[in-house]
Amino acid sequence: MSDSKQRVFDDLKKEMENDKSLPLRKGATNLVLGEGNLSADVLCIGEAPGFWEDKKGRPFVGAAGKLLDRLLLSIKLPREEVFITNVICFRPPENRDPSPEEILAFQPYIDKLIDLVNPPVILTLGRFSMGKFLYGVKISSIHGKPQVVNWNGKSVTIIPMFHPAAALRSGEVMQKIIDDFHRIPEVIKEIKEEKVKERNKVEQMQLV
Ligand code: URA
Repeated sequence: MSDSKQRVFDDLKKEMENDKSLPLRKGATNLVLGEGNLSADVLCIGEAPGFWEDKKGRPFVGAAGKLLDRLLLSIKLPREEVFITNVICFRPPENRDPSPEEILAFQPYIDKLIDLVNPPVILTLGRFSMGKFLYGVKISSIHGKPQVVNWNGKSVTIIPMFHPAAALRSGEVMQKIIDDFHRIPEVIKEIKEEKVKERNKVEQMQLV
C-alpha cells in the first residue's frame, strides 16, 4: 500500500474525529472508519458498527464479521486483501437502523474513502449501502447480480449482497449469500480482462 494513500486515510480519520457535527458520536466509544488494503480490488461497504466494532474501533469483528471473513476466504480473498467500511461510522444506539440524515452526514467522508481506494468492484452488504448506488431496487431481486454504475465519472461494478447478519438469521439467505460470493471471482476476472482490452485498444489507437 502506498504511503501517500495511508497518509490521506489517516488525515480523513482525524478530520472525522474532529468533526463535531457528525451524529451518533455521543453514545459511541470509537469511530470505525474501516480497515484493509487501500488499493484493494474489492471494497466491502456494510451498514454501521455494532457492539464489538464500537468497542474495538474495527469494522465487522462480531458474529457477522466472522461470517464475512469465512465468505471472503471461500473465494480465496483474505480479509486483509479487501477494504471494509460502513455507511455509518459510529454505532447507532441498540444497533437500530441508521436514519437517512445520519447516512447523509457520513456520506462526504465515505465518498472520499471510495475515491481513495478507487476499487473496480464494490460489494454492498445490505440495503443501506446498496441504496447509496442503486435506487428503486429490491435486494431480494438483484442480490449477487453485478450492476455497473457511474461513480464520479468512472465506471464501478456494484455487487449487491445480503447483509451477513441476515444470513445468520435465515438458512435460505445463508445459501443465497454463499452462492453469490462464489460468483465474485468470475466477475473480477471479467472486469480485469475488459480493462486490459480497453488499454490495448487505446494503445493501438495511439500508434496510428
Ligand atoms: N454490521 C455492519 O454492517 N457493519 C459492521 O461493521 C458490523 C456489523
